[in-house]
Amino acid sequence: SYVGVHSTSFRDFLMKPELLRAIVDCGFEHPSEVQQETIPAAINGNDVLCQAKSGLGKTAVFVLATLNKITPVPGAVSTIVLCHTRELAFQIRNEYVRFSKYLPDIKTEVFYGGVAIKKDQEILSDKEKCPNIVVGTPGRVLQLVREKSLRLSSVNSFVIDECDKVLDSLDMRRDVQDIFLATPHNKQVLMFSATLSKEIRPVCKKFMQDPREIFVDDEAKLTLHGLQQYYVTLTEKDKNRKLSDLLDSLEFNQVVIFVKSQEERIAKYKEFKDFTKRIMVATDIFGRGIDVERVNIVINYDISDSADAVSPSPFVSTEEDKSVLESVQERFEVNVTELPANIDPKTY
Ligand code: ADP
Ligand code: MG
Repeated sequence: SYVGVHSTSFRDFLMKPELLRAIVDCGFEHPSEVQQETIPAAINGNDVLCQAKSGLGKTAVFVLATLNKITPVPGAVSTIVLCHTRELAFQIRNEYVRFSKYLPDIKTEVFYGGVAIKKDQEILSDKEKCPNIVVGTPGRVLQLVREKSLRLSSVNSFVIDECDKVLDSLDMRRDVQDIFLATPHNKQVLMFSATLSKEIRPVCKKFMQDPREIFVDDEAKLTLHGLQQYYVTLTEKDKNRKLSDLLDSLEFNQVVIFVKSQEERIAKYKEFKDFTKRIMVATDIFGRGIDVERVNIVINYDISDSADAVSPSPFVSTEEDKSVLESVQERFEVNVTELPANIDPKTY
């Protein structure tokens, strides 16, 4: 059977206990590969340029490292995070909110263009509301800096997410440079991207001092990290019976069952995410990047058509299924064995 290799736990990172508690609440059991490599370097105070495929968990790297570092001073912005779209800015702000759950003195705000600037100005001029962490798009952030609503003299962490996209556009690059120049010389700079061309890499490094360059691109660890996998050989007509046997015998918090037929499932997904339902039947649409913290069992009722869309525990009923399973094993360098009669619930 395939068992993921977990050499590191979040506890090994020597973070604030309030952060470790929030990590548990978020359902993160083990740091991903990029988190294992990058969090220690960032906590150590290094400048970091990190390239890793999307979905590997880069956000938590800088969110945790910067939250760990902050001693909040009311009215002082110490961390600035820049990214290229409002949606991403908003998502990053939400990650800060969920990981700072037990750090109530740390405040995060998000500022982006296309909405009235007045609200931003009000927040920044109110000492009670002024954030310690600012997430935003370069244009709006620079505007707030220029009109002196946003003061950057206390900034000690400067983060750019999707830095290739931010620095690719010359307008945004100029804005970032101006924001950068308004911050103190001594600060930590962290940059993240899924792709970094050889043209953009030196541009990034101009903002950094002796950065640690971290590159993670291991698909095997991406998709199958921490999952035990088994297959079951059976005929099409036995699938339902086997499925209900499995649901009876396995202990699970929540389970996802992948099937091939297409249906409207968004509402069900939401109920499931809110934990009002414990079993979800899904098609491949949710097969990648599924983000439901309590899921500990995934069953592939119909094996996927290609090795690309693999999820574990396939029901193998045809010769074609068998060959897909073989290519999956080869591609991800894992060995998927036949489902044993009993699996110790402690192991999944
Ligand atoms: P990236 O920025 O590298 O594309 P994200 O930071 O957006 O990736 O993370 C992708 C998804 O993985 C998010 O839903 C996030 O909550 C989840 N995630 C990140 N790290 C972990 C972890 N250690 N354990 C479980 N889920 C994680
Ligand atoms: Mg990201």
